Amino acid sequence: MTGSVIIAGLGPGAEAKVTPEVTAALDQATDVVGYIPYVARVAPRPGLTLHPTDNRVELDRARHALDLAAQGARVVVVSSGDPGVFAMASAVFEALEAASHLAHVPVTVLPGITAMLAAASAAGAPLGHDFCAINLSDNLKPFDLVARRLRLAAQADFAMAFYNPRSKSRPHQFARVLEILREECESTRLITFARAVSTPEQALRTVTLAEATEDMADMRTVVLVGNSATRRIGPYVYTPRSA
Ligand code: SAH
Repeated sequence: MTGSVIIAGLGPGAEAKVTPEVTAALDQATDVVGYIPYVARVAPRPGLTLHPTDNRVELDRARHALDLAAQGARVVVVSSGDPGVFAMASAVFEALEAASHLAHVPVTVLPGITAMLAAASAAGAPLGHDFCAINLSDNLKPFDLVARRLRLAAQADFAMAFYNPRSKSRPHQFARVLEILREECESTRLITFARAVSTPEQALRTVTLAEATEDMADMRTVVLVGNSATRRIGPYVYTPRSA
């Protein structure tokens, strides 16, 4: 009998931000597949096999999940945040596209609270009007494309959320990102660096573009850039509905 693949988002960190349908799917699972730190968030129990794998093997992991399901397993593939936001859902569909003999495996995607929304609510409402999300990593796409999307989004006056802003393997690109923002935006533009949101290490810091430096971001940070109308009110940052 064919099993199934559910691709589930575990939210940004706190247990209270895991949706009830994701908890129910994990309760029913025979196998959980995912990146090591995300699988570590799933409690072991009899009858459940955990398959933690390293980063950067998303396609192999996705194929493994589909193979297990084809053999009858109820597989949950876990991502942090939302699985459709720079995460495993697309990888599973890519694997499905490449393996026509697995086309009969039922695949379901269960949403989760993505980092930018958890960060925005912790800050106030900086994404309160039109916004876009950009993955700054050039692991899978050229940096020129990142730079082009960023420049055009800034010119269109979108508020923006940056995922994967800076890593040890790409220490200098975030400096380039700040440079492009300085070319396109006024120096008073508000930027919130939100680190480890909804975990005990959560730290939020809002500065102006003039004050922003590349070392304010790391791989556990999501960066929220306001639009030209984004402002502070007391400790909060918000974007008005009219802009
Ligand atoms: N699917 C995830 C994103 C995966 S990409 C989601 O929807 O949130 C990994 C990037 O997400 C990190 O580099 C960081 O930019 C961001 N991120 C994930 N969890 C975060 C958290 N708790 N706090 C701040 N940023 C986070």
